[in-house]
Amino acid sequence: MLTLPAYNAIKMKTKNILITNDDGVNAPGLMALAVEMQKFGEVTILAPDRNWSVCGHARTLDRPMKVRDVRLENGMPAFAADGSPADCVALAARGFLPQKPDLVVSGINTTANLGEDVIYSGTVAAAMEAAVWGIPAAAVSLDVPANPREARSYAAAAFFARRVLENASIYSLGAKVVLNINIPALTLEEIRGVQSTRLGRRIYSDRVERREDPRGNPYYWIAGDAPSGVSEHGTDIGAVSEGFVSVTPLHLDLTAYQHLLQISNWNWCERIEMRLPEKAILLPELNIIN
Ligand code: MN
Repeated sequence: MLTLPAYNAIKMKTKNILITNDDGVNAPGLMALAVEMQKFGEVTILAPDRNWSVCGHARTLDRPMKVRDVRLENGMPAFAADGSPADCVALAARGFLPQKPDLVVSGINTTANLGEDVIYSGTVAAAMEAAVWGIPAAAVSLDVPANPREARSYAAAAFFARRVLENASIYSLGAKVVLNINIPALTLEEIRGVQSTRLGRRIYSDRVERREDPRGNPYYWIAGDAPSGVSEHGTDIGAVSEGFVSVTPLHLDLTAYQHLLQISNWNWCERIEMRLPEKAILLPELNIIN
């Protein structure tokens, strides 16, 4: 067990915690996370009023949004918005709440968000939206088998989410870093520990299925089995498959830095001359006459 120094000091520092998700405000994973995070600070819940899973970083700009006061099954007060997960965080960060949150925690998602899943995930997008506004954030997901025989238990996942965030608070991870936390669907005793990981590689089996409606018009499903992945050591997929909690630090900067120099050395001038006649560059008005 890790010893956490100055717990009270941390609690003072991290005061306002926003809890959101992409499964909708009534999802049991959100309630488990909210209950656990109350041990760490003041919790406010603002989450979508319906399921937005796999919505990515969708934002709503073309219509007004409504926010309702609701209560979770355990009586906790919450706000339910008719926008996306990223909308919920933008609302909270930009003036809906009297105070900007100090920390945004998104989840606990019903399934894992590993490897390329982070691009599709509304859970991760909510945390990324927090990073856009300079708020430290984490996404928390449970790695369950494709067809779990038992109901999901979020207790261990919620516990580890809090422990990870307590550490992140002590070691003051920057506000532009998002922690992507995936927890295997095991009991507290069964979980072997925590690994810091890089993103692994997912293997998707999606295919397009063409069907016809009763009028003979085609429609399409993109469907497939749950994704598998390359279970490589050091990756998030490897860690959860070995029974470890995976913590992957993500950042918004998608720049492939190793290619910057190469692109700057490409022969730009020659290519421009090849495409444009010389007079078009020197005398653009002649183009109009032509
Ligand atoms: Mn989801």
